[in-house]
Amino acid sequence: MALDWTQPAFLAGTVLILARVAGELALERLNARHVEEHATELPEELRAATDPGTHRRAVEYTLAKSRLAMAASWLEGVLLLAVLWSGLLPWLWSRTGTAASGSVWGAAGFVLLVGAAFSAAGLPVSWYAQFRLEERFGFNRTTQRTWWLDRFKGFLLSLALLWPLLALILKLVEWMGGTWWLWAWGVVLMVQVTVAALMPVVILPLFNNLRPLAAGPLRDRLLALADRTHFKIRDLLVMDGSRRSRHSNAFFAGLGRFRRIILFDTLIEQLTGEELEAVLAHEIGHYRRRHVPKMLGAMAVGLLAGLGLLGWLAGQQPFYAAFGFADPHPAVAILLFGLLGGAVAFWLSPLMNWWSRRFEYEADEFAAKMMGSPDALVRALRRLSGENLSNLTPHPWYSVFHHSHPTLLQRERALIRGAALPG
Ligand SMILES: [Zn+2]
Repeated sequence: MALDWTQPAFLAGTVLILARVAGELALERLNARHVEEHATELPEELRAATDPGTHRRAVEYTLAKSRLAMAASWLEGVLLLAVLWSGLLPWLWSRTGTAASGSVWGAAGFVLLVGAAFSAAGLPVSWYAQFRLEERFGFNRTTQRTWWLDRFKGFLLSLALLWPLLALILKLVEWMGGTWWLWAWGVVLMVQVTVAALMPVVILPLFNNLRPLAAGPLRDRLLALADRTHFKIRDLLVMDGSRRSRHSNAFFAGLGRFRRIILFDTLIEQLTGEELEAVLAHEIGHYRRRHVPKMLGAMAVGLLAGLGLLGWLAGQQPFYAAFGFADPHPAVAILLFGLLGGAVAFWLSPLMNWWSRRFEYEADEFAAKMMGSPDALVRALRRLSGENLSNLTPHPWYSVFHHSHPTLLQRERALIRGAALPG
């Protein structure tokens, strides 16, 4: 069975992939030019936030990352198009006799194997990013051994989770007929929520060493803040982020009784006690403003829309024929959907980022209120921005597509505006 260029589905798939590559390249170019224009001349408001040396290094870092992102974009687009245009997938599908065997495990395995092959093709870029780019800017702390072990563990973990899940979904198609995607929605949602809930107790420890923050003035200070903000703290954990990178972070993980606040050891090294308190107040702000259930709710709606579309596509014979598959099979629909889905998700990322940035402002506002002033948070954000060589002057369109957090300047402005408001 040959590929049919005149098929709308094939054309649509090709256009989607090309549009994404073109969109990504255009954004990288816009951003790089914008950053270069601000390389020597910092906006007045930012002069207090950074020093010229750090700013120059942040510009170099941003431009180096941009060049790599462009290469990765090209590579991914070319690879995807080559695989779809060559008819390799339908050929493999029929040669392995996966459909003929009738086994859901076999069909699910086929989908995962193709996915793993694509991931493997991206390994050189990730390797270069870690051991050349991050290394050059002094961020890399990981060893070859740890890095490869991380990939291997990640692969095994995905296999252990996704293989049974995919096989179950294929069984649901057999059992439930036309409404399978609705059942699949329930199952996937349950798995996602379980994974999110157990993240800090089951998954993170596979990769990192987590230990409770040692007793002392810092712990007392942070626990007092939790008390003041009515946040029932389960555990204040320190993660050995320094084993892999000098980048620093703090985040909130897990749900219900498994929720934890996790501080990178690098963060503790870089910030003062008061600044750490402000960062923790920000994280508690996410919790108190119910951002986690809101995000999960949005994810559930998005997942329903995606699976609804998949359910519809899976019933369209021309969809399979367009990509060279002789017979419909739900596993093939899932595979094609997975390969093309990223190109669609790219155009939806502004919406998710816009929402996420709103949450960041809310958490910042909460932190400033709990700290009695925005000063400590502003100092912490400046410090972190410098330590991580954050891009202080991204192109606005680049931010729209890529940034889940507002820029330092935007956050400072919002914090100062908030502090100036009465009450
Ligand atoms: Zn945040």
